[in-house]
Amino acid sequence: MSKSDLEIAQECVLEPIEKVAAKIGIPSDCLEHYGKYKAKLSFDFIKELENKEMGKLVLVTAINPTKAGEGKSTTTVGLGDALNQIGKKSMMALREPSLGPVFGLKGGAAGGGYAQVVPMEDINLHFTGDMHAITTANNLVCAMIDNHIHQGNELNIDPEKITFKRCLDMNDRTLRDITIGQGSKANGVERKDGFNITVASEVMAALCLASDLMDLKKRFGEMLVAYTYEDKPVYIKDLKCEGAMAMVMKDAILPNIVQTLEHNPVLIHGGPFANIAHGCNSVIATKACLRLADYTVTEAGFGADLGAEKFLDIKCRLADLHPNAVVIVATVRALKQHGGVAYEDLKEENVQALLDGCQNLAKHIDTIQQFGLPYVVAINQFVSDTDKEIEALENWCKENGHPMSLSTVWANGGKGAIDLANKVVELCEKENTYAPLYDVNKSIEEKITTIAQKVYGADGVEFTEEAKAQIETFNKNGWDKLPICMAKTQMSLSDNGSVMGRPTGFKITVRELRPSLGAGFIVALTGKVLTMPGLPKHPSALDMDIDENGKITGLF
Ligand code: ADP
Repeated sequence: MSKSDLEIAQECVLEPIEKVAAKIGIPSDCLEHYGKYKAKLSFDFIKELENKEMGKLVLVTAINPTKAGEGKSTTTVGLGDALNQIGKKSMMALREPSLGPVFGLKGGAAGGGYAQVVPMEDINLHFTGDMHAITTANNLVCAMIDNHIHQGNELNIDPEKITFKRCLDMNDRTLRDITIGQGSKANGVERKDGFNITVASEVMAALCLASDLMDLKKRFGEMLVAYTYEDKPVYIKDLKCEGAMAMVMKDAILPNIVQTLEHNPVLIHGGPFANIAHGCNSVIATKACLRLADYTVTEAGFGADLGAEKFLDIKCRLADLHPNAVVIVATVRALKQHGGVAYEDLKEENVQALLDGCQNLAKHIDTIQQFGLPYVVAINQFVSDTDKEIEALENWCKENGHPMSLSTVWANGGKGAIDLANKVVELCEKENTYAPLYDVNKSIEEKITTIAQKVYGADGVEFTEEAKAQIETFNKNGWDKLPICMAKTQMSLSDNGSVMGRPTGFKITVRELRPSLGAGFIVALTGKVLTMPGLPKHPSALDMDIDENGKITGLF
């Protein structure tokens, strides 16, 4: 039996964080320590970096995820270690894990095998308290709204038209739709409400797109919370609590530094959902890495149709970033599933299904090409992959002119991606023609149709009557010139999660639009998107424990 991610992480003898930071030129007095192995970069240091030139930016994305797992974080960490091994000054920028999925199903978010970030337990648990701060800032708004109504409702807020929900970093389906203020008048106005998981809060999305604390405060002020009885929008600035929210976030806005198993520096900061939000770590962390290192490796959630599209159309556009290369992660197992093999049968060799499944990979490559970026396919090798399958995948890439590299970082750490690192360095030397896919000044319908046709391969988009009415409201309120954040199933290129491979001849249905005015995008919902997950029948929490010596078990 191979060792678990946790067992491998626990065997690592960590270096003091100031030693890791020094490697990339961060003086120890520019760290705010959270114990021996975690720190935040100080406010002044982040400011000092602002005039420095930026290095190369490498995005790690993937095919549509399957139950089999693709290994984006694992590849990101392994590639960063490999770049350091070949003598390139490199850092990684990752997302913070959410406790909800940790107790549920997903597993951690700090890489896997010998390509991990440590201290793994802390990162997956409370880390440096950023999630707590985000939850508090979010719930302050909710308390202020309900108190405002209770105290006389000067703003004339219609309790039935409050759009801003409470949040909690837990998978708890019972909180999706609730009634608050029950009991007596003293408990406030009774109304329907609901909770999002913290990572789906707009506060998280705004943190990840903010350039600094003052920009974050401004974004908080612009968030829509409700409508009046006359259907006029009410913003956080009307409630006047953006200052208190920003105060609560004063430490959470600073990026966290930790290390890989190979003691290379990593910034982990912010972790918005990749469906209701844009799914990438904070702009502040990405820019800090770019100014400190020659190569920054970062990832975007889910497949290239969701994470990479939003990274390239939302984050890079808003933060004025110019990426240099893209790594598209694929696994033999997931490609076989896209080729029609059931999860239970993945252990059996099936070259034909693998080749059929390559159509999914081909579409994501096409998307990255449309963004004008050079790419390399990274095959994340599993022990179950057969030689024939690997050879067939290598040949498919060769025949179709796609650069590719076999990565064994899960088993071997950085040395498993030396070839990939060399290829990435080569790609970064190339000129590229990166540009977002659409002009933000186009209509909402046109922007969504561009994404659906160019990225998903759809024939077109249908808007429900509700969505059409919302578009009218958005146009009237002047919210239409923002980029689009698509909320779609991650499992398929279409809006039907059970359709694998590369579907054709389909349409996307947009059933609702939500303005995330503080984050700075419009969310377009296709299908049912849950913003508060539930726990599975056998939650991971059942297998977790800690003993009298503080040793944790079962955390993946
Ligand atoms: P993603 O970022 O795509 O969600 P992760 O990198 O977090 O995926 O990996 C998900 C899980 O799959 C982790 O537990 C990791 O250890 C495991 N994993 C990743 N790559 C491999 C591999 N090559 N062999 C075995 N397990 C792997």
